[in-house]
Amino acid sequence: MIMKYRDKPAKIAGYEAMLKRLAPNHPKRTMISDALYNHVAGIGGEERVDDALSYFEPDYPFLIIQDLQLPNRAQIDTLIITEDCVIILEIKNLGGQLRLRSNPSALDQTALNGQRRFFRSPVIQAETAKIKMESILKSFNCPLPVETAVVMAYSSQFIENVPPGATVWSADEVLIQLNRRNIHTRLLTPAQMEQLAQSLLSFDLEYQLFPLSTKYGIPLSDIEKGVFCPRCQLRKMERTGRRWECKFCNLYSKDAHLEAVDHWFMLCKSTINTNECKNFLGLTDLDAAKRVLKRKGLIEVGGRRNRTYHQ
Ligand SMILES: [Zn+2]
Repeated sequence: MIMKYRDKPAKIAGYEAMLKRLAPNHPKRTMISDALYNHVAGIGGEERVDDALSYFEPDYPFLIIQDLQLPNRAQIDTLIITEDCVIILEIKNLGGQLRLRSNPSALDQTALNGQRRFFRSPVIQAETAKIKMESILKSFNCPLPVETAVVMAYSSQFIENVPPGATVWSADEVLIQLNRRNIHTRLLTPAQMEQLAQSLLSFDLEYQLFPLSTKYGIPLSDIEKGVFCPRCQLRKMERTGRRWECKFCNLYSKDAHLEAVDHWFMLCKSTINTNECKNFLGLTDLDAAKRVLKRKGLIEVGGRRNRTYHQ
């Protein structure tokens, strides 16, 4: 049973919105575009593993949590809970020639065009997640041991120099490897497994990626305001009457600002008031801002004078 599905599209939309609204020479741009690159590259691999696991039907109970966020910046791509252990899958989707280096550990990638990049070692990432998971399980008095496997999206993605003791599978063999496992000792009942999953998910709920300005320490004044044209993307629209107009591609839109309000929540703050909305969208009066926020169907909090809106 899957307890939580991953929501990568929301993260990607957030990073894309930030890149759209940061100046080309902004110091945090590289960090944001690296995060976007990693998320986009990761998606293909995670989809392949999710697909493989959809055929996982062992004769014992199991729970799956996709994309679990734990305290202290620990993130797990896929977590499988069974009656006798917890399995962490660290999923990678990287082409080219891959080699693990040690002292210090890194994954050395030489792409087909010869370009070389270094990544955090997935073996070290999985081992670090294991240590953090073990300490969380201990705090819950949960007796389950933790196992890890690095999963490569395709069997052509071969890692050289894997240290002894580390497990690396390809997405194609995840199902076979998991089916080979037998339950040795039933340490938890199905009800206890579910309780454990719910406790782990409560960490996930506390984790907030948005607003990205807080996560990346970007002042709100660095985030470009305005409504972007949905057709030519990088041009700003102007308000003419109750419509938005792109002077560049002549597009008229009644609701182009709705995306900008989404950007506000992803990038700036978790709440918005009419004044912030007016400034961010470039509206001329507060009534227009109020209409926009009402139309967005947001939750209203507070009285007339200090009303804020939430998603
Ligand atoms: Zn346009």
